[in-house]
Amino acid sequence: MTDITEDKHFIDELQNTTVLQTNILSSIQEGMIVYDRNLKCLHWNQTMETITGLEQKEVIGKHLLEVVPQFVEHGIDTMIKGSIDGQSMSSEEIRFQHSKNKTKGYIWGRFFPMRNTESEIIGGVAVVTDISERKLFEYEIHESEKILRNVIDTMDDILLITDLRGKVLQVNRAFLHVLGYSRSEVLGQEFPYSWLFEDEMGRFVTWITNLRQQNWLHDFDMTWKAKDGRYIPMSLSTTLLRNSMGEAVAILNIARDITERVRLAKDLENRIKELDDFTYVVSHDLKEPLISVEGFSKILQSDYQDTIGSEGKEFLDLIAGATTRMKGLIDDLLLLSRVGRPIETFKPVSIKKVVDEVKAEMEFTIRQRSVCLNVPEYLPRVFGNKTHLKIVFRNLIGNAIKFNDKSTPIIEIGFQSAENNYYLFFVKDNGIGIDKEFHEKIFIIFQRLHPREQYEGTGAGLAIVKKIIETHKGTIWVESHVGEGSIFFFTLPRETPHG
Ligand code: ADP
Repeated sequence: MTDITEDKHFIDELQNTTVLQTNILSSIQEGMIVYDRNLKCLHWNQTMETITGLEQKEVIGKHLLEVVPQFVEHGIDTMIKGSIDGQSMSSEEIRFQHSKNKTKGYIWGRFFPMRNTESEIIGGVAVVTDISERKLFEYEIHESEKILRNVIDTMDDILLITDLRGKVLQVNRAFLHVLGYSRSEVLGQEFPYSWLFEDEMGRFVTWITNLRQQNWLHDFDMTWKAKDGRYIPMSLSTTLLRNSMGEAVAILNIARDITERVRLAKDLENRIKELDDFTYVVSHDLKEPLISVEGFSKILQSDYQDTIGSEGKEFLDLIAGATTRMKGLIDDLLLLSRVGRPIETFKPVSIKKVVDEVKAEMEFTIRQRSVCLNVPEYLPRVFGNKTHLKIVFRNLIGNAIKFNDKSTPIIEIGFQSAENNYYLFFVKDNGIGIDKEFHEKIFIIFQRLHPREQYEGTGAGLAIVKKIIETHKGTIWVESHVGEGSIFFFTLPRETPHG
């Protein structure tokens, strides 16, 4: 009698192993097909169902190429057959359609022969990977790269990407167009580049070196050289490009061709100079005949008194008044054109000294009008032209006294630190004030708000003051309300202009 217990045990174990294997095959992420030599499907796991839409029961026991005709269309049949002939093969990426919902995806298959313990081929195994998501991701990256490349290539700005040692990795179409190089002439170029001028290399290196401290530098003006030798003024911005770990990997330079801007600025500068020269010459030449008129009317007044009579004398008085006024206007025009001329003589100037000297010069008016002029113990030093800065304070203090209806005009002078190495000064009064409507107009030459009989003057003072402040690269403005006094604010550069 044979002991069947052992047989039973063996069969159970075998069954358990098969169940176990089937479970494993079903649950793995890869699609798995097992087939015999006649290509009859023995196993079709869960993932294969998901990939193809075909259920186990539709496939098991059937001829693989008949139930999945797509395998034939994509040449997978050759690989399946090859595996039966003992070859292990891998497919390319295969476009594959879900049989039920018709969505399209990509798969990749590997095919192996399956052997028994005697090494005879008894069938084959196919491992199928769904690579749709990876493909989609690759596609999206590819598309966004394409868009980015298009944007970069259609930009008007010139783009140049280098590695950290300065080797050119990429340039855009604008770069090639403006400088006249071909892409192959530029890619791979190392510093010093053929489009830089030798005498600008040092500045450029210093500029790039600054990138270590700051990640972004901008508005660096330099001149580049086109392939045909043309000079092109550029304004450069440079950024350090970092990877996702925050490590610097490349340098992005964006350059803008500023030829037009430079031309316009030069044009404007020339026109302003022309206008200044014109004003200077005209006012200078106007003075000569005016002096003659003044001189001759004085002779008439003194030597011909009896002949011209009282009416004639009255007319001569009017002529004298008009010529004096006209001389005043011409003097102001001359001063205005003079203070606008470029000044090479800027030096450190003590504003305390400037104000004290102006105060001393105006001592008579100050006493006469019982002015209370408050000047702080300390006023800082600025970088500028002392004579012109005296004109500023003389005008502002003069106006603060003149346009003041109080029995005791109170004037306060002060300052505070301002941005970009500047000081902000102010001259404050308790005078008649200025309507908001005129806050800008009063700085225009010959603009006055009152008749000459009420407050005398030519209306050139504030225009001259503004021009002086602007030649010092400062700004001036007023804050005021009618009847509440005025504060004139203006900025001036500190003693050490670049300190
Ligand atoms: P002017 O003093 O010769 O009239 P300005 O150019 O100095 O010319 O001033 C222009 C105008 O601005 C003045 O006519 C006056 O109306 C107004 N203005 C200037 N300073 C003051 C001030 N501190 N208070 C009130 N009004 C002022």
